Amino acid sequence: MATTPVAEYEIDFLFRTQRLLSEGLFVATYKYALLMAIADLAIKHGSDSGDQLTLKVTEIAEEMARIYWRQVKPFGIASDVLRQNAGRQAAIIQLLENASQHHTGSIEQLKKDGSWQRCKSKITTVVHTMPLWKIQRVGGVVDDFLYPQTNSSKEIVLRPGVAYCLRKYYSMIRNMIEGAWILHIRRLNTHVLGEVVDLQEFLFGSERSAMSEVQPFFMELQKGKCFYCGKAISASSKGHVDHFIPWSRYPADLGHNLVLADAACNSAKTDLLAAEAHLERWVRRNLSHSKTLNKYFNSHKIAHDDNCTTGVARWAYAGTAKANGPTWIRGKSIERLSGRWQALLDAR
Ligand SMILES: [Zn+2]
Repeated sequence: MATTPVAEYEIDFLFRTQRLLSEGLFVATYKYALLMAIADLAIKHGSDSGDQLTLKVTEIAEEMARIYWRQVKPFGIASDVLRQNAGRQAAIIQLLENASQHHTGSIEQLKKDGSWQRCKSKITTVVHTMPLWKIQRVGGVVDDFLYPQTNSSKEIVLRPGVAYCLRKYYSMIRNMIEGAWILHIRRLNTHVLGEVVDLQEFLFGSERSAMSEVQPFFMELQKGKCFYCGKAISASSKGHVDHFIPWSRYPADLGHNLVLADAACNSAKTDLLAAEAHLERWVRRNLSHSKTLNKYFNSHKIAHDDNCTTGVARWAYAGTAKANGPTWIRGKSIERLSGRWQALLDAR
């Protein structure tokens, strides 16, 4: 069993990641999507043990497709898809753009289509030939601190400590990637971009449309009551679809992470994790309604993976526990974690 990294290693890791983002020579935006995909997979499949982590190239390609999917929508009044490459449009964007002409909805919808396997295997080839074995080359020198430079077309193996750091500094690393990506997009798209547009929201914001769509389902599942306080949600307000693990912690609309809350609880909870009493109810809901939830998510093409969602929750609560951070009960009341969260999530 690997030991967790020492502080010097962590600082060095952040420094090298930053250097890779600012200095690595790239004409396309692949390196940002690749790094973001690896960080997301470290949350979903990694642990805090400090161990190495094997990731399949197909898995990485699928995650990159998910990240790029929202970006192939036409942007602004020019109604063009933003350029993600200095020359011709980036190949992955082209592939997804073609696919999106037949599937205007979510990427889950595309994944159900027969053409997805072909699309995915083409994206996998691009990932393998383009960023995967080039990203760690900075200033002509290979600095393979993330994963050994094997040139494999099947998998990469994150070095011991890498998944640990990606999980520990996820928010910081994600902000670093988003910032660098936005700068690059601005440079590539000066012809369509004014200074006023909220590029961050366009590129990385949440899928609000999909959110309101699930509202009636959760209204029925929760018998018209707020998930947190149990009070009836008025028919006129309809309630708010809330990310149980806050969006700001981990931006993914995985079905099991969604609950319906009244306006008061939704705005009071802000970006805090919910207290253990809420966590217990959430775990129980996902267990006891698992059939209903899966059936609904499948038929409405909503991304879902109960194990992944539990993994994300375990990571989020572990982070707050380590920092002895506050969790939200109701109104302005907060409390610290007792440690019970661990048993609740391990019972899954
Ligand atoms: Zn409430």
